Amino acid sequence: MNTKTANAPPDSLVEQWIRPQVRALSAYHVPEIGNLIKLDAMENPYTWPKPLVDEWLEVLRDAKWNRYPDPHACDLKILLRATLNVPQGMEIMLGNGSDELIQIIAMAVAAPGRAVLTPEPYFSMYRMIAAVTGLEFVCVPLNASDYSLDMPAMRAAIIRHRPAVVFLSYPSNPTGNLFDEQQVCELIEISPGLVVVDEAYNAFAGSTFMSRLAQYDNLLVLRTLSKMGLAGLRMGVLAGSPAWLNELDKIRLPYNISVLTQASAGFALRHYDVLEAQAARLRDNREQLLTALRALNGITVYPSRANFILFRVPAGRAPQIFESIKAQGVLIKSMHGASALLADCLRVTVSTPEENQAFLKALEHAL
Ligand SMILES: *Cc1c(COP(=O)(O)O)cnc(C)c1O
Repeated sequence: MNTKTANAPPDSLVEQWIRPQVRALSAYHVPEIGNLIKLDAMENPYTWPKPLVDEWLEVLRDAKWNRYPDPHACDLKILLRATLNVPQGMEIMLGNGSDELIQIIAMAVAAPGRAVLTPEPYFSMYRMIAAVTGLEFVCVPLNASDYSLDMPAMRAAIIRHRPAVVFLSYPSNPTGNLFDEQQVCELIEISPGLVVVDEAYNAFAGSTFMSRLAQYDNLLVLRTLSKMGLAGLRMGVLAGSPAWLNELDKIRLPYNISVLTQASAGFALRHYDVLEAQAARLRDNREQLLTALRALNGITVYPSRANFILFRVPAGRAPQIFESIKAQGVLIKSMHGASALLADCLRVTVSTPEENQAFLKALEHAL
């Protein structure tokens, strides 16, 4: 926004009071979509069958929006615990998206001289939240050949920086791979602080650390319903031992999960089979898209255990190929420039066979 109004504060006033770390940030950029096929944000393209939508609207009719929501979302938590297989003795905490939970964790540990650590490339929110909460942000490049963890570098960085939190996206966004399970276990074991295994793409991964919560007293597991089909709802879940979550819960604003979200998420979880069936379709679609992409000349396709695929185009051509695909009506995400390890890389969300086909056609034409 650059429109100056008559009563706008002078820049000097803004500079005086807004912290430098905040001024240095650029706002999270969400592109205009217009009529484009949207394959940039890992959304689930499938909607619900009409009878299910009608049933959901009936549920909302009874929601008491004149009242504050249940601050502990008790009914919803019971459903979530069962659906996500949260181990006995572990607690869960709900966030307005898992982004909010990342923010709450950072706020709880932030103090001068403390760091968060994550492999690079990383989910951009880790860095932004670290900056806002005043945590030092340490990133350790993944191995360039296959985006696996660089274990010697990770060990050294953990020893040197003693991070308050290590964030591990599992599968990794934006690379799409799952880190080696034993290596992640080692990182949890050698970390002096918390390790948050961020399982945003769990529905597509077939591997989880949820069942290991009891094994490690510094492990937290983060989940979200966003990538499974409820991105618009904003529903994140953090699982871990009550000792940690009782503290984190003090920071959570009491009514962060609205009446409508609690009712809708509860309804969705009672029909979780629908979401699971959609995730299964997307996993099939992913395999087909991977096969089709691998058949194209001139690009390198990375394996994916998520609902997106990272691929590398010929050197220097990523911006032009991205724009050409967009001009043909398909919006994907350019990762070029986000990290040295992502030079010439583009990322596409797996969608319906029709939308995937439109993307493939556009990519082929662009190449
Ligand atoms: C998308 C994503 C999230 C955030 O999900 P919300 O629940 O929608 O806030 C968190 N972590 C990773 C790695 C993601 O890709």
